[in-house]
Amino acid sequence: MTFRESLPLLANFIDGEFSAPASGRYIDNFSPATGLVYAQIPNSDASDVDAAVEAAKRAFPAWRALSPLARAEMLHTIADKLEARTEEFARAESIDQGKTLRLARDIEIPRAVKNFRFFADFISGREASRPIATDIAMNEVVHSPLGVAALISPWNLPLYLLTWKIAPAIAFGNTVVCKPSELTPMTAFMLGEVLTASGLPPGVCNIVHGLGSKAGEALVTHPDVKLVSFTGGTKTGKHIAELCARDLKRASLELGGKNPGIIFADADLGECIPTTLRSSFQNQGEICLCNSRLYVEDSLFPEFVERFSAVARRAKPGDPLSDNSFLGPLVSREHREKVMGYLEIARAEGATFHLGGGIPELPEPFSGGYFLEPTILSNVAADSRVQMEEIFGPVVTITPFHGEDEALHPANSTEFGLPARTRTQDEARAARVARAIDSATVWVNTWMLRDLNAPFGGMKKSGWGREGAEWSLDFYTETKNICSKPGASK
Ligand code: NDP
Repeated sequence: MTFRESLPLLANFIDGEFSAPASGRYIDNFSPATGLVYAQIPNSDASDVDAAVEAAKRAFPAWRALSPLARAEMLHTIADKLEARTEEFARAESIDQGKTLRLARDIEIPRAVKNFRFFADFISGREASRPIATDIAMNEVVHSPLGVAALISPWNLPLYLLTWKIAPAIAFGNTVVCKPSELTPMTAFMLGEVLTASGLPPGVCNIVHGLGSKAGEALVTHPDVKLVSFTGGTKTGKHIAELCARDLKRASLELGGKNPGIIFADADLGECIPTTLRSSFQNQGEICLCNSRLYVEDSLFPEFVERFSAVARRAKPGDPLSDNSFLGPLVSREHREKVMGYLEIARAEGATFHLGGGIPELPEPFSGGYFLEPTILSNVAADSRVQMEEIFGPVVTITPFHGEDEALHPANSTEFGLPARTRTQDEARAARVARAIDSATVWVNTWMLRDLNAPFGGMKKSGWGREGAEWSLDFYTETKNICSKPGASK
């Protein structure tokens, strides 16, 4: 698609300047709530990526030479400037992605601000090196930045996840080139304005828009890119891992999930039902942390299904900018078709639909939007694709179980291992189940409680590596040991 004069045009952010793609080509950007094109974004190619990597390379020596305190000060300024524009960013995120304005305003943009503040405080509070003194050696462990980092982010939590990469990468002294999802470019574009207003030196953070297969791949394979932080689907993640392996490039992969929730009969339903509503349908189920498979102890199963369905029936999809809507539209027409494909499989296999399964009827201007009803299913076979594959939409399955083992076996049966959740008042059982679930995070009697000091990542095909505090330090820096012999002559 080429330039359409009537629409707002987004630009790349390279070397501190907004610039058009070298080819002059653009991609349509749709509003998921209406299905209408409302902006165009650069369809960048290898020449734009080259320019961005070159700028990042030039900026690296001076940026890494700054003291951690000076870099921390810059991150705090970015956080302050972003926070001052929370409402504007939240509206833009809602219109671009389809999430409700409330979610963007209350959780996601504040979290983007927190990402900068957290890593600013983290580097301010750390010693520059760590001594390990023993009888045989005096070791001094230091961390150095690697150089230019490629940061590739998905469409579901656009600014939240992009800043989760930018903040640690630049805090530790790297410079970066970002490639946000082509479906949700808006807040990354606006971030360029915040970086400029904050006085971030040109080239420290560059943002190139475009297709994953073109701009994204050119970035990952660029010889001057030293590390790749990728969040996205497992299929793309495997491909990126192969590309990185060719050059032994360091890669962090945060990938897909099919997260189980195990609810025991002693769960406090007064707390459990509202949490389950969020863990099933927040952001239309388009969060890698959502629990799309629930296992409920058999004695509780009928009551749970009834009470959960009754509450979810009131969680209406609608205008994402309205406070009356609990769900907005899915991110794209193609994604809604994919989710509906799984509902067709469920129908053909004889699943019970307790709620939803269809496209809601909404007034103009939303009739062309990508909305879908929240859907609750039971009677889905353990080996059904609906139970085994990531759907990433407002669809949850509920399966009864009898005894811990009968829950743990299916909970661990997919190829994924992102967060799981369990609900019980029995502390010993909670500890046992949490250790037995093959997931890199297990939430006990809570959901989506994120402490940025703790490690986050995925087991099995949900990813490689962990990020957060020390784990981000390990990924975004080289760890070097300077070893001398105690008492040796100088
Ligand atoms: P994709 O894997 O399709 O894309 C992720 C990013 O990679 C996008 O920016 C995409 O660009 C880009 N990309 C695609 N192909 C390539 C390539 N060959 N080289 C370089 N970059 C490429 O994921 P989605 O955007 O569809 O996001 C949803 C997925 O993300 C779900 O599976 C979800 O579980 C996962 N996710 C995981 C999280 C975690 O923490 N583990 C958190 C959030 C989401 P473009 O969009 O232009 O194609």
